[in-house]
Amino acid sequence: MVDRRKFLAAATAAGAVSSAQDKPVRETPLRGDYHGTQYYDEKERAELMEVFETRRPFRWYGSGSQPPMKVLTFEREFAARMQTKYALAVTSGTAALQAAMAAFEIGPGDEVILPAWTWHSCCSAVVLAGALPVFAEIDETFNIDPSDIEHRITPATKLIMAVHLQGNPADLDPIFAIARKRGLRVLEDCAQSVGGSYKGRPLGARGDIGIYSLQLNKTITAGEGGALVTSDPVLFERAARFHDVGGLRAPHEAAVGKPALGPFVGCNMRMNEFSGGVLLAQLRKLDLIVGSLRANARQVYDGIRDLPGIRFRKLPDPAGELGVSVFIEFKSREVRDRFVAEMRKQNVPAAPPGGSVILPALDYIASKRTVHPNWPSFTSPRGRAIQYGAASCPRTIDILSRFAGPHLDPKFTRRDCDDIVAAVRKVYPRVAG
Ligand SMILES: *Cc1c(COP(=O)(O)O)cnc(C)c1O
Repeated sequence: MVDRRKFLAAATAAGAVSSAQDKPVRETPLRGDYHGTQYYDEKERAELMEVFETRRPFRWYGSGSQPPMKVLTFEREFAARMQTKYALAVTSGTAALQAAMAAFEIGPGDEVILPAWTWHSCCSAVVLAGALPVFAEIDETFNIDPSDIEHRITPATKLIMAVHLQGNPADLDPIFAIARKRGLRVLEDCAQSVGGSYKGRPLGARGDIGIYSLQLNKTITAGEGGALVTSDPVLFERAARFHDVGGLRAPHEAAVGKPALGPFVGCNMRMNEFSGGVLLAQLRKLDLIVGSLRANARQVYDGIRDLPGIRFRKLPDPAGELGVSVFIEFKSREVRDRFVAEMRKQNVPAAPPGGSVILPALDYIASKRTVHPNWPSFTSPRGRAIQYGAASCPRTIDILSRFAGPHLDPKFTRRDCDDIVAAVRKVYPRVAG
């Protein structure tokens, strides 16, 4: 048993030697929460209850004389918000990626270029389509390095996947310049940047297809969910058919005008009306959430950008960034890790880049593991020859090891952001100076 008097005496002594400078910036740790669910209120409740009370949980038909309208209304408002002609709601961001592969008619023999640092689904969608993933390095935006794309293009390349990671738009101008010159399609994966923009246009609008995740960790959410946007009627029709066992329902048929295709083998990725209702309420709050995130990010950037030598993650369009985190560059992993440890002591946590994985370095990808040994992605000479593994993406590994920063939250107050600024101003010069 610890003697209580001795314990208190020791604690007091320790307090006396620690200078005021070592008093943490905050008494309790600053903590964010999932963004979308913090905005749940009577709007989401009313949407849910309406689906419940009308007993119409399925998007295409149900009891009563009125057609169910939640998912359809969500699609219409989502397309309007993203400034595209069409939007398709699906069950997840992963499903949206698979529907996009189908829309682009990607299959065995095709190659898709994607960043080495992104989410599993980006690679799995390509492999599940039977095509070959070809990884490019990231740069200091944490997104695909436009200068690392062109030398990876072969006659089999069909698509470039531009993924906007952790709220930061990928640099689309040079990516589209390459794609147009080489006759390739571009898919924008906006899963981690729902509501962000690039040079004034919503992310996802410029790509041949844009996809979004509406899972818990993303900007707006119904727990699970996804969406796909395009302004090309044939791409939309193929995605819509793929998502609904090859068929095209009347409202989608009306949207494309005259169908260009017949039925083909597809999946069921239909969103239900409960999710559609919640997402409709969430979508109507998207600009509010994005505005709060950006205001907080601006306060933090402005409060620390004068620190001598400080360098941030590169932002190709600072006005379009979502502002979910402020990443600072360090000269080595050791210095970065010291910064993270010191920030924790201030009760203002900072974290390395997260929410994605260095895909080629994962064992299951390096060893090309699929559900069947004859998977078409890896049976061609090119598929057999291509080498993944950590050695294939040294720059990606290096960049990710040298950055860290505080995560921001749309519900942080000015005081919270002042604390972040104070902690960085205290810790950064100590560890990096
Ligand atoms: C989350 C995520 C996905 C997949 O979305 P789910 O809804 O989880 O299936 C795809 N791409 C990126 C970049 C993601 O972060």
